Amino acid sequence: MDEDLEYVNCNICQGSDTEVVVRDDGMIRFVKCRHDRLVYMNPRPKRESLRRFHRQFVRNDNLVLFSDYRRQVLKREAEAIKQFKSCGNLLDVGCATGTLFEHFPPPDWHAFGVDTSLLGAALARDRHRASVYCGTVYEASYSSRFFDVITMLDTLYYSPDPYSELLEFRRILRDDGILAIEIPGYLYSLCRDKGPICWLLDRTWMRGFTKTRHLYYFSSRSLRLLLGHAGFRVVSVIPEQASLARHGLTRVLNEVHFALARAIFAITAGRLSFAGKEIYFAVKNGACLTSASTGKSESA
Ligand SMILES: [Zn+2]
Repeated sequence: MDEDLEYVNCNICQGSDTEVVVRDDGMIRFVKCRHDRLVYMNPRPKRESLRRFHRQFVRNDNLVLFSDYRRQVLKREAEAIKQFKSCGNLLDVGCATGTLFEHFPPPDWHAFGVDTSLLGAALARDRHRASVYCGTVYEASYSSRFFDVITMLDTLYYSPDPYSELLEFRRILRDDGILAIEIPGYLYSLCRDKGPICWLLDRTWMRGFTKTRHLYYFSSRSLRLLLGHAGFRVVSVIPEQASLARHGLTRVLNEVHFALARAIFAITAGRLSFAGKEIYFAVKNGACLTSASTGKSESA
């Protein structure tokens, strides 16, 4: 990366006691916090550089990444969200072209989106008649306790400051609202993004880490710590499928991998996960959670 870099502290403990876990030929590297084991890019491109990258993230030549490749996963995730809420104001942060909104139509739902991509925000607005703000969630300045559901799907690791973003979610989420965060599976990412499996499937020894703008790799532990730090409590975790690419052997391997990962997740009660993605549902600490499907309440 030929651009200005900056050093940052751990987003959970704000410390700087780290060890290097991945290094590329240049300056970019990934480090792991010795205190809470959060893995993050350090140094990394400055915020304005990241913002320029994300402004062009959705392009006419990659729209399939946000629609066809994601539709099956988003349909299941929408059904899971509706186990908690059956109507209300939904905000999808990093909504890209708005494919999630297909499952949250009016009049039961009022769909809101935030995305820094110019094309993504425009398409989400036009295709789904959603209220989409092109920029960051801070710039959107939503009213406090306005949303029943906030989703951030496959996006949190791009955020320069996930902790502050979660604090903003806490401010704009209703006290009985639900937060859904989808992240890439930690073990899956470590095996898939570099090393022999990466070489077998993509003929390159490293496709993730320093080759992408992923700023963080969250494990279940580090994400739970971060959510707890921001005033949320995890109430459910569901293993999900990696984005479905193309057809043929890759797709078959993806389906087989997901079936195995889901079975192991169930057998080990979530203690062992190598799923391609995981979705975490969280509520505000002290919130009273009501199931949309059963109507039963649970004090958190
Ligand atoms: Zn730390």
